[in-house]
Formats: sequence, C-alpha cells, structure tokens
Amino acid sequence: MSIKRHTITAALPYANGPVHIGHLAGCYLPADIYVRYLRSKNEDVIFICGSDEHGVPITIKAKKEGITPQQVVDKYHKIMGDAFREFGISFDVYSRTSSQIHHKTAADFFKKLYDNNGFTEQITEQYFDEEAAQFLADRYITGTCPKCTNENAYGDQCEKCGTSLSPTDLIHPKSTLSGSKPILKQTKNWFLPLDKLSPKIKTFIEQHQDWKTNVYGQCKSWLDSGDGLQPRAMTRDLDWGVPVPVEGADGKVLYVWFDAPIGYISATKELFQNTQNPNKWELYWKDKESRLIHFIGKDNIVFHCIIFPAMLMEHGEFILPDNVPANEFLNLEGDKISTSRNWAVWLHEYLLDFKGKEDVLRYALTANMPETKDNDFTWKDFQTKNNSELADIFGNFINRVLVLTNKNYNGIVPDAKEFEKTDLIALEELIKIPSRIEESLNKFRFREAMSEMMNMARLGNKYLADQEPWKLIKTNEERVKTIMYVAIQIAVNLAIVAEPFLPFTSKKLFHLLNFSPLKWSHSKNSNNISAGHKINEHPEILFSKIEDEEINHQINKLEESKKTNILNSATLQPAKPEISFDDFSKMDIRVGTILEAERVPKTDKLLKLTIDTGLDKRTVVSGIAAWVTPEDAVGKRVSILVNLAPRKIKGIESKGMILMAENPQGELGFVSPVKDETGNGSIIK
Ligand SMILES: [Zn+2]
Repeated sequence: MSIKRHTITAALPYANGPVHIGHLAGCYLPADIYVRYLRSKNEDVIFICGSDEHGVPITIKAKKEGITPQQVVDKYHKIMGDAFREFGISFDVYSRTSSQIHHKTAADFFKKLYDNNGFTEQITEQYFDEEAAQFLADRYITGTCPKCTNENAYGDQCEKCGTSLSPTDLIHPKSTLSGSKPILKQTKNWFLPLDKLSPKIKTFIEQHQDWKTNVYGQCKSWLDSGDGLQPRAMTRDLDWGVPVPVEGADGKVLYVWFDAPIGYISATKELFQNTQNPNKWELYWKDKESRLIHFIGKDNIVFHCIIFPAMLMEHGEFILPDNVPANEFLNLEGDKISTSRNWAVWLHEYLLDFKGKEDVLRYALTANMPETKDNDFTWKDFQTKNNSELADIFGNFINRVLVLTNKNYNGIVPDAKEFEKTDLIALEELIKIPSRIEESLNKFRFREAMSEMMNMARLGNKYLADQEPWKLIKTNEERVKTIMYVAIQIAVNLAIVAEPFLPFTSKKLFHLLNFSPLKWSHSKNSNNISAGHKINEHPEILFSKIEDEEINHQINKLEESKKTNILNSATLQPAKPEISFDDFSKMDIRVGTILEAERVPKTDKLLKLTIDTGLDKRTVVSGIAAWVTPEDAVGKRVSILVNLAPRKIKGIESKGMILMAENPQGELGFVSPVKDETGNGSIIK
C-alpha cells in the first residue's frame, strides 16, 4: 500500500490550564518536527489539533472560580492557541471541541454506533443530589476515606493516602454542589462492549509490532491482563459536553474520552469547510492511502490505541491509526511536573521570559525528549545546551562564515578553484547526513535525528577550525576562496536540515544568506549556492549566551512555588474544643530572652536553654534542635510559659516551656514579640 498523504494529530490539550514543557516534549514538539520534515519533503500532510473542552474537571474549575465552563475553556483555548503559534507549532488547524462542527460530528458518530447496536445499555446506581437535581460525577462527592479517615476524600480518590475509590466507598458522602447527603439512584448509560470487540482489537494491535516498544507493550498488557478488556461507559450524567443524541438521554452527555478523539475528525472538517472542496477532509480520514498518526503522551495510549480504534472500527467508514508514537513523561528538576502544585515551566511564561529564544527551548526539549523512558529537564542543562552547543557550535560556525565572507569578499560567494581532499571529504559527509536524519525521523527517534543535524554544524565548525581561513588569507588567498565556498555550502544545507528542529533559526539563516528557503531534497546537493551570490551584510548573532542570572531567576521561581505548595497542600490540624477564659488566664506567659543554649548530649532534638524571664534566670529544655542551632538561639526573644510545673528531661530540671509555632509539616519557629519595648517579663495575654 502506497502512502499518498499523512494525517498527523497531536493530543488535544485539556482546556483547564495552560501548556507546559511536559506537554511539548510529550507530543507537540515531536509532532511538529515530523510534520515540518514531511512538508519539506513536499509530502501531502495535514497537522491537526485543538482544545479538549469537555469533562468534569472543567465544570469543577468553573464552579470554583464562579464562572461558566464556557468561560473557562474560552480563556485557556486562547492562551494555548496563542502560545503554540508563537512557539512555532505549525498546526494547520487548531480547533476546539465546544465548536458546533464538533458537537454535530461527535453526535453523528455516536448515533451511527447506536443505530448499529454498537453499544450495550446498562443501568447502574449512582449518587444523585436531590437539592441540585443532578447525578454527581465522582469528583463532586466528598466523604471520609475508609482507609485513612481523611474527611475530604473524593469519590474517585483519597488525595491524602492515594487510595483510588468508588463514590460508594466513602463514609458520610456529601455532595459538593449543595453540601447535602446524596442518594443512590438508578441511571442508564451506554457502554462500548470492549470485551466483545477484544479479538478485533487484538488483531489490529498485533499487526503493529513495529510500534515503539513502550506503546506496543502497554497495549499488549491491557489486552492480555487477567480480565481482558471491559465494557466502558461512553456517556455520563453531566450537563457540560455533547448531549447524547438519543431519546431518553436528557441530562446526559458523551464521555469526554469518547468525544475528544472525534475532535481530530471535526477539526479536519473545519480545516476544509470554507474551501472550494469542503469534502476534502474525507480523503484524510477515509482513503486507504492516507496514513493516520497520533502523537500523544503515554497516559493516552489506551485511548488512542484501543478505545478510539475500537470506535473507528465500529463506525466502519474511517481508517485506523497507522502509528501512535507516544512518548514517556518529562520531569522537571528531578520532580514530576504537576499542574496543581505549579511545578512546571509554562510555555506562555517562557515566551515572555525568553523572547526570541523559542528555538532554544525546542532544542533543549528535543535533546531531552522522553522517547523511551522518563527524562528530566533542568534549567542548568538548558543553559548548557544553549551556551555550549547552540552558541558555541552552530552559532559560532555560522558567524564565522558570514563575517569572513563579508570581510574578505564584500559578501559575495567566491568561486571554488580546486578542491583538496579535505574539501571533498567534508562535502561528501555533508550530503550523507540528511539520509541519516531521515532514517531516525522515520523511526520517530527525534533526539538521534537532531543530533545528526548538529553533526552538520559540527562538521562546518571543525572544517573551518582545521582550515583556519582567517590565517591563510595572508598567505594563500586563492585557497581561502575554495574554503569559504565549501563553508557556505555547509551553512545553507544546515539551514535546510535545521528547519524541522529549529524553524526560527532556519528562517533567520536563510535570510542572512539572502536565499529563499530550500526544500529537503536540496540538502543532498553540495552546490546549492553558486559563486557570485551576495549574502546579507549584517550578520546577526543566532544564539546569544544565557547568563547565570536568568537561570537563577527561573530556579528561584520554581523554589517559590515549592514553598507555596507546601503551605497549601498540607492539612491544618482541626481546632481544639472550646475553653473558658478562666482556663486561659491560668497560664502565665511572659517575654524572655535566651541567654545560653547548648545541645543536650546524646539527643537529636533537645536544646538546654538558659532564659532571662524578667522574673528570674532559669533552665528550660526544649525539643527544637532540628530547627534552631544553639548559635541561632542565643539572643532570641521568645514567649515562655513560666508557671508550668517543672519536669525532669534527660536528667535536667526544665522549668517552664518555650512557645513555638508549628506549621503543618511539623516545622517549628519561635513566637517572638514584635516590639522591642516589650522587655523580659512582659505579660502575654
Ligand atoms: Zn485516605
């Protein structure tokens, strides 16, 4: 079967937050590199994406912020779309699943399966909020976790102990909509009978043993696991989404994972809808000579390799995915990227902080792409990649070529006189590199492909360093002409092969060479620029160095969010029972100053403190050594409970107690008077 055209999709990003570097390295960058490469080869290709705008998390976010779900998705659709565009992700269409065209496409898809008896109906019992008059999604129910007694566990998971739950597991379930106790009520939903479809899916997967091992392996384990595939509900009791287009389905919408992948089809329709041939979308989805490739992250494998293909098979009119080159996860500074903890580098923020450095992030992310296993992004590595690779190798080579050509020949490409052996070897190597890049890209090995691209820059850099035309110009002018001719050929071919990886740089480079962008096939020629051509006069630096300051700023930004997270995520202890004023006034608390402090031998926690309480000087043993060193303690003004009965601790009589503030992580700090005038012995009341 010959391939005539390519339908390339990138996972629809979920519209309840912006895009971060994990998303980029997971699917948007590899997809973009691949598409740019195909376009450069003059292949017929469309690049499809859009915002995934349905599902429960969006309704919860809307409720929290006091706005409508539509307002939530409008906000993030714009932020994501703008950021992708600025970053050079070259979608042919960036659509959205709240669009009319999508609602109709998804509803029609469902209806066709429904009419073909493609679903099984199941009646289940689900929690229903009588006050709010609606069924409750798992996340809308909270209650006490049966495992750890956390009172704020969700219907699908307890975030304190990590146990995954069903809503009916919760003790004292409560609706988050009205606060009332929900009742169990019967509801009908439509299930995709994956159990029955399992043999067909299995055959399909087994035809694709060429898929990446992480992808094929995960599919096999789903298929071969103990219970095999189970029927999955494709509808939900919810009021945000694509309404289920059958009778008796009021208040139900399509499951977000049913409608989202259909979004690829709707987006393709949208791409052609106002053209001369609005039906052209069908070629990309129905013609056997079209090749469908889904770029996704590993968390979406089951939906793209099993559920969506099952839906497509049941529908019958569409082609099935030819490949699903999913990546693993990217971590950040050694930690899992987390949207809720704000542990992320957000694309729209990067674009503000590093204006004009889109390609640096593209380079650093591609170099660390988690192709076969999880990988890590660090700001230090980002800096090194820019300074030692992009600037020192790529940028340095180009700068030398441009400066020397302008200086020695007024920017006019000199004629090569006679090639020496070194020239021929360099040119031969030059035209071999593109095939190696192709080979890697055809296997979805983007890191390898990009490092071959950099090998071309290295080739150029080394060639000039070896030939030293800046020295030779004084003794052998003719020879330098040939050297510069060769170097210029390397520069222009580098502009061609860099395009999929570093599109902004490629464009700049073509401009600097005063040449129209060339397509991929030209990278196999070693004489693209002829003698006599004039390049642009003012060489611009392609990659400026990134200073420590900028990197430290980013690292500090992350550290700040870590601190905020710790405070936000921890649970405060509940309030103690009420006491009377008399109870309180029995305590005699005074301001004191620590005069001396030493560790209590053979203990980790204890400090022996001598304190001036204004009334006397006394010894207090305090369990604060983990947070305060003896040196830091001396001179500190503290609050001390002076009428606490003396106790012996490790053989030392301790009279009274220092008051400490303890945060949810158990970290201690002194409670000190703010004003200097409140001297020792002042009463705290
Ligand atoms: Zn729990």
